[in-house]
Amino acid sequence: MSIVVKNITKLYGKQKALDNVSFSIQKGEIAGFLGPNGAGKSTMMKILTGYIPPTSGSAEINGMDIYEKSLEIKKQVGYLPEQNPLYYEMYVKEFLEFIAKLYGIKNPMQRVKEMIDICGLQIEQHKKIGALSKGYKQRVGLAQALIHNPSVLILDEPTSGLDPNQLEEIRSLIKQLGKDKTVMFSTHIMQEVEAICNRVIIIHRGKIVADDHIHNIKTTLSSSHIIVEFSVSISKEKISTLPVQNIEKLSDTKWKIESSHPDISKYLMELAIQSNSTIVSLNKSEMKLEEVFKILTQE
Ligand code: ADP
Ligand code: MG
Repeated sequence: MSIVVKNITKLYGKQKALDNVSFSIQKGEIAGFLGPNGAGKSTMMKILTGYIPPTSGSAEINGMDIYEKSLEIKKQVGYLPEQNPLYYEMYVKEFLEFIAKLYGIKNPMQRVKEMIDICGLQIEQHKKIGALSKGYKQRVGLAQALIHNPSVLILDEPTSGLDPNQLEEIRSLIKQLGKDKTVMFSTHIMQEVEAICNRVIIIHRGKIVADDHIHNIKTTLSSSHIIVEFSVSISKEKISTLPVQNIEKLSDTKWKIESSHPDISKYLMELAIQSNSTIVSLNKSEMKLEEVFKILTQE
């Protein structure tokens, strides 16, 4: 396991930002840490990277306790904080050299050159950071997070505020990096998780409300939703005679129904036969992650 969090609680004064949170992320996973604003995402990431202590609980990164081995952990973790604090007066190259030297990298100039290539900063490398667009500032932030070649990457909302083109570029960069690193990636945007991650941890009001592979989360919650298409039009009244909780018309022949009855497929076939029809298609619908997110984080 690359990241193991055990029963972490964090209080800011009286406010509980994290409430007994536990999860783990395996080596090689790209895990989306998803939750509405104020859910506790940044707090969790600051604790994992050693910037603030938890009130109680513990965590390990690469098998090392975050308290006991905080310096060693900083060598193995790359962190992109939410506000991506950069020195706007510094030049891109100058800033990255400065960071490389902080980490005691042996050949800093060579490494900066590599980072400029990896993060696609070639055209902008001679500019002051303050003069860069948001997307390029994010690339500089990623470059500083990656310069010491960490095995674990913790990225706090790395794509917020980017335009669609920049979004696409940063997403593919993260996916690329995820191939040989463990990535924990926070966002409040669902599509983001679907585009990048294979695993999702949903947090709401400081508590984990879902933790699974994206596909599992969507199917577990939506197993009672069925989309059925008949060969001829069937009335709502007829469908209402079946054990269904909800019916939604998609077209004269196509309906979305909600039913928790285990034999609902059989009932639908009987209904089709009685109506001199056949079933053209019957699908258990997969809910959009956005819908899942809404259900899990509703007030
Ligand atoms: P997220 O990153 O998911 O938006 P945060 O971890 O930033 O959430 O915040 C979780 C909760 O803790 C919020 O209600 C926020 O206002 C509160 N909070 C965060 N940092 C502090 C702080 N330094 N002092 C007091 N409250 C804080
Ligand atoms: Mg945050």
